[in-house]
Amino acid sequence: MEKVICSYCGNETVSIEEHEIELSEPYGGSSTVKIKEKVCAQCGFEEDDDSNDLVIEKELSALKRISMVKVLDALNAMGHTTASMERALGLPARTLARWKNEQSMSPSASGIALMRIIRTYPWILAVADMQFDHEAARNILLQNAAKELVKIRSEHPEYEVITSAQKSGNHFELFIKGSRKFIPEAVSGENNVFEFLR
Ligand SMILES: [Zn+2]
Repeated sequence: MEKVICSYCGNETVSIEEHEIELSEPYGGSSTVKIKEKVCAQCGFEEDDDSNDLVIEKELSALKRISMVKVLDALNAMGHTTASMERALGLPARTLARWKNEQSMSPSASGIALMRIIRTYPWILAVADMQFDHEAARNILLQNAAKELVKIRSEHPEYEVITSAQKSGNHFELFIKGSRKFIPEAVSGENNVFEFLR
C-alpha cells in the first residue's frame, strides 16, 4: 500500500479517519456517505482524502435521479401525464419517460432544474400550454396566488381574512387583511397575512 504522507509536514504519521456526512437534493431526500479525512499525528494537519469527491459526486447523482423520479411521480399524481407535459414544454416525445425510467440515463442539470421549477409551481404547465401568452400567464398566476391565499387562510383558522377591491376617487384598492380573531389588546392585524408569507 502506498504510504500516506502529510502534505503539510511531510511525515508519515498520518491516520485515516472516517466520518459520515449528509447529502441532500431538493425533492430527492437525503442520504449519508462516509468520507475519509487524513489526520497527521505530528502536526495536527487535517485534509480531505482525494477519494471523497468521487464518493460525493456519485451519491449526489443518485439523489438527483431519485429527485427526478419523485418530481415526475408527483406531477403524474396531480394529473399531468408525461405526454401532456412534453407537449406543453415542446420536449421530444418520451424525454420525460426516459428521464424517469432509464436507470442508465442521467437527466441533464437543466432538465432537473426545469422539472423542479414545474414541481414547485405546477401551474407553469398551463402557462406553457398557452404558449407563454403574457395575458394568460398573468391570469394563471393571479388565480393560483388566490388559491394559495385560501390555503394560507385554512392553515391559520385563528385569523379572520377580509379581501376587497374597491375604487374610490383617484384610488384603486386591492387588499387582503388578516386579523387575529381574539385579540387581547386592540392591535391592528393589518400586516398579518404578509407575516405568514415570509
Ligand atoms: Zn503533518
